[in-house]
Amino acid sequence: MNNYGIDIWADDNFIIEDGVVKINYASKPSLIEMVKEIREQDYKGPLLFRFPHLIQKQIDKLFNLYNNAIDEYNYKGKFNAVFPLKVNQLPNFIHPLIKCGEKYNYGLEAGSKAELFLAMTYNKYGSPITVNGFKDKEMIHLAFIAKKMGHDITVIIEGLNELETILEVEKETNLPTPSIGIRVRLFNSGSGAWAKSGGIDAKFGLSSTEILEAFEMLEENNLSDMLTMIHFHIGSAMNTIKPLKNALKEAGHIYAELKNLGATKLNAINIGGGLAVEYSQFQRTLQYSLQEFANDVIFTLKNIAKQKGVEEPNIFTESGRFISASSTVLITPVLELFTAEFDEEHLRLKEINPPLIEELRDLYNDINSKTALEYMHDSIDHLDSLLKLFDLGYIDLEDRSNAEILTNLIIKKAIWFLEVDDYDELKRIDNKIQEKYLVNFSIFQSLPDFWGIKQEFPIMPITHLNKNPTRSASLWDITCDSDGEIGFDPNKPLFLHDLDLKKEEYYLGFFHVGAYQDILGMRHNLFSHPTEINVIFENNEVKLENILESQKIIDILEDIDYDTKQIKEVLKKNLDNNTYKILKKYLHDNSYLKTTWS
Ligand code: PLP
Repeated sequence: MNNYGIDIWADDNFIIEDGVVKINYASKPSLIEMVKEIREQDYKGPLLFRFPHLIQKQIDKLFNLYNNAIDEYNYKGKFNAVFPLKVNQLPNFIHPLIKCGEKYNYGLEAGSKAELFLAMTYNKYGSPITVNGFKDKEMIHLAFIAKKMGHDITVIIEGLNELETILEVEKETNLPTPSIGIRVRLFNSGSGAWAKSGGIDAKFGLSSTEILEAFEMLEENNLSDMLTMIHFHIGSAMNTIKPLKNALKEAGHIYAELKNLGATKLNAINIGGGLAVEYSQFQRTLQYSLQEFANDVIFTLKNIAKQKGVEEPNIFTESGRFISASSTVLITPVLELFTAEFDEEHLRLKEINPPLIEELRDLYNDINSKTALEYMHDSIDHLDSLLKLFDLGYIDLEDRSNAEILTNLIIKKAIWFLEVDDYDELKRIDNKIQEKYLVNFSIFQSLPDFWGIKQEFPIMPITHLNKNPTRSASLWDITCDSDGEIGFDPNKPLFLHDLDLKKEEYYLGFFHVGAYQDILGMRHNLFSHPTEINVIFENNEVKLENILESQKIIDILEDIDYDTKQIKEVLKKNLDNNTYKILKKYLHDNSYLKTTWS
């Protein structure tokens, strides 16, 4: 039976039991139970389930990995971590995250003024805040204010101009100066899709000459004691460990050189994010174990500190994807199977049909397990010919419809005959026999990284898992955009079930969508963020909390600066009261499809 690679990507968070996907935690509820409970409350359309216990699992894992390595190597530095807000700033994610991280003093990283406001408001006192990204004077001023509020905040400079601004604000205000970090532009770049975050051409960071200048500027202004951190980030989703080792050596030596130059309060190396997540359903792509990763960090930094005779630095990480990706699952109904209308009862056969139609009829009646493949290919050829005949005016619309129905019926029958436990036979079959599944979501809103960079995500049905999926599947979203499709890829084939949606529901789960997707998602066609639900476990029982419905159409329009009062007035003008009431109700719905199985 197809398990959709759950043993590869799911890290035991989800399991298949009794033909459905279950959460492998506490009372092990199935995803479909939760979907039904929410839909009974009349929330239709795509649903975004968040699992705080999985955030906790990842935070525990991160701290345990490093603390194990620290114990093993008798390392003197301390491990600290912050969550980079850019990866997911939404309240239904951030509030549980902060709670989960309390016992470790897990902090936040901000990369913009808005994110810094969030960090200043919600970060627990005593947990670190780091500030990255390009900063203007106002942003640096904000960091000084955060320091005055009592936050343990480090401003990581991306260029000398930012240091100059820090010096200005320090002189102009009598606010306390935050700690200062220097992002270094490493010669060694990363691996994976975001490797350009590192390397000598990287967008961020100071060259060695600039680092020396920065230190001199700090000394001249009696602020060298504020320099506490060296920072680098060589890219997200590192799939190999070697670039990290190289970067660590480089950053470790810069740290040690600065210490030996007199940076007495410099005490930390921040290695950025980059811990990868297994997104593949087909084969393992991660080429290192997480413990190996942590051990390498500790071992390398220990050696450099020993070689250069300096204290072992504290370590900071800013892993985002690793902490958040697994915590969110999008579940949404299939609305339609493209070939659903091709059933026998729609045939309009005549007393005398064109010869190729008669042949299709014979193929359909005579097909068996031995002839399945051959007849299927014949039928596809016949359909091609019949479509050409239609274009030339030799057959009519009824003939064309009969040809389409018969060919699709033959394909279905052939697949049924060919149904085998391994899908090799099906995989070989022509692209033309894919089934198109219309799914109630927007790829642009919910899987922007698929649209933008063809990022893979685990996709599977959450029920029917005790039956063989027999259709090679392409997924269509509901946007009016032909890019809103996850096409069938024979190298990474998605097989789904053949079903009659008038008789049964079918939901697809898109996993690992907790990192970046929520916030990168765009409102193409004005589809907004899906309805969110937090799944909490209390005394072994599951509770669905903080339900946040997808935005109403009227609110979406207001968000893009329409005058909604005017919209209502114009719509009302030529309508009687009752019709307008109905229209108003629609205006207060969300924009996903709602009827029947949606
Ligand atoms: N830190 C910095 C400076 C980043 O730019 C990023 C992401 O681009 C991260 C941390 C988070 O990386 P990841 O989500 O791969 O852990």
